[in-house]
Amino acid sequence: MSHYGKKFTYPSNQDLKAMIRFEEDSGSIWLGQQRMILLHASAFGSMRSELIESFGEKYARGILMRMGYAAAQSDIQLAKNIRAQADVMDRFIIGPQLHALEGMVSVEPVKVEMDVETGRFYGEFTWENSFEAAEHMRLYGISDHAVCWNLLGYATGYTTVFMGKPIYFKEVECVGKGDKQCRIIGKPLEDWEDADELKDLFSLESMAKKLHSLEEEVQFLRKEMTASARPENIIAESAQIKEIMYLLHKAAETNVTVLMLGETGVGKEIFSQALHQMGTRKNAPFIAVNCAALPRELVESELFGVEKGGYTGADKSRPGRFERANGGTLFLDELGELNTRAQAKLLRAIQTGEFERVGGTEKIKVDVRLIAATNANLLERVREGTFRADLYYLLNVFPITIPPLRERRTDIPGLIKKFITKYNQKYGKHILGVTDDTLRRFFAYQWPGNIRELENILERGVILAENNARIESNHICMGMPAPADDYMVIGKHGNLEPGAKPDVLDDLLSRMVQSGVDFETLEKQILEKALNKAEGNVLETARLLGISGPQCRYRLKKLGLA
Ligand SMILES: [Zn+2]
Repeated sequence: MSHYGKKFTYPSNQDLKAMIRFEEDSGSIWLGQQRMILLHASAFGSMRSELIESFGEKYARGILMRMGYAAAQSDIQLAKNIRAQADVMDRFIIGPQLHALEGMVSVEPVKVEMDVETGRFYGEFTWENSFEAAEHMRLYGISDHAVCWNLLGYATGYTTVFMGKPIYFKEVECVGKGDKQCRIIGKPLEDWEDADELKDLFSLESMAKKLHSLEEEVQFLRKEMTASARPENIIAESAQIKEIMYLLHKAAETNVTVLMLGETGVGKEIFSQALHQMGTRKNAPFIAVNCAALPRELVESELFGVEKGGYTGADKSRPGRFERANGGTLFLDELGELNTRAQAKLLRAIQTGEFERVGGTEKIKVDVRLIAATNANLLERVREGTFRADLYYLLNVFPITIPPLRERRTDIPGLIKKFITKYNQKYGKHILGVTDDTLRRFFAYQWPGNIRELENILERGVILAENNARIESNHICMGMPAPADDYMVIGKHGNLEPGAKPDVLDDLLSRMVQSGVDFETLEKQILEKALNKAEGNVLETARLLGISGPQCRYRLKKLGLA
């Protein structure tokens, strides 16, 4: 057992210095049998900061620690070959002496207890003049944590190999965080409370693992996305959707531009992806752009790409979505939001199949099927003058209107099954379905947010419901009105909340008074409208107005309508 207190005197480092050789002719520097390089501290500092900027501090720290660890593994060869007869501390101290010789840091042992045989180790050292702290401060100023990562990796690597077991160092004080000096403490890994975290720092895989799991997630999402958009996975029980699937198949046989219409949340993108999957382009990219989500100034460069210097801040040339969709399908959502410049350019691109990047002069030709979607009334925009008429007619060759969910209620059971399967998978649950009462409410509801709203409600239901049970109506009550009792209104945040039923009669009366229409005229007009709606059928008219057939006939006669 070796034990050193405060007054440690270093052995001479002449034996180490003697191993440094400069071979100018061959352009090499040697330390014993290792080739070394003289590297500018500032260059190292710049690379270090680039690692931080590129990967974040956590990963940069890991990379630098492993780099220090690797350097120490090479240096320890020397400790084995020289001072072979010296005592253990004089052999161990070769590491700190080399660290100083290599220009990294000056090391002072404060307290060292070690026993190679039993693996016992405790080491406390102070560092002065750490090149790494200096570089960190040069670029970042004072930090709120220790920053001598590369040095710490060296200490850990050196001691671990020397002792033949994992000895990990922590930097408890650091110049980089405003302390007078840096101070490190080393102990066997198992003696640290956060052993797992420390070990992770040196595990080469951690970065790769993270990237790998992200990649897996992307693949999962991508698969899930295309799976739900695969034509055979679209729920088409209702006649309306069967008709739409037929239209999509017809469109898929050609390259025709398709205009998808329908309320928000009806699944225009899913149907567009299905169309993409049905045709010969299915193995080429499907690129979706939400025109409303792009800042107006950037729409053009996003769609058509930009040449370096094309606008202020364009420091690189890059292709736009049109180019990226080459050979495949470009889906332009919320097309009604395009500004007039972008509309003009889009028009020309569709007509000629060619365009230029923003700031560019070269004509670019692409082969793209265009699917445009909007929930705005484009024709109205044309009349207002905010949407080009020629572009409208060019896009409107093959319009497909996706009906709102309330008009395709027969699809609700299929959609419920599809989304519950999806969220069972996502949350690792086993929910059997919805209760009859829940289903009844689903059927009674108006679905202003359409399929997206149904999906959200079911996701929440899957989370709330017990395994091996069904989603009950109290799991979905937030967004759902009871069939006949509560009156629901759309709240500030677009959710449904109980609200006061507007007083229809009050409203009607004040309007009548304002407009100067007398009661008889009003009654007559109401009857007339109802009669029209019922296509002249008196009994249906009576049903609409909530009166009996004879009552209805009497009034119609009295007002000269029958
Ligand atoms: Zn430090």
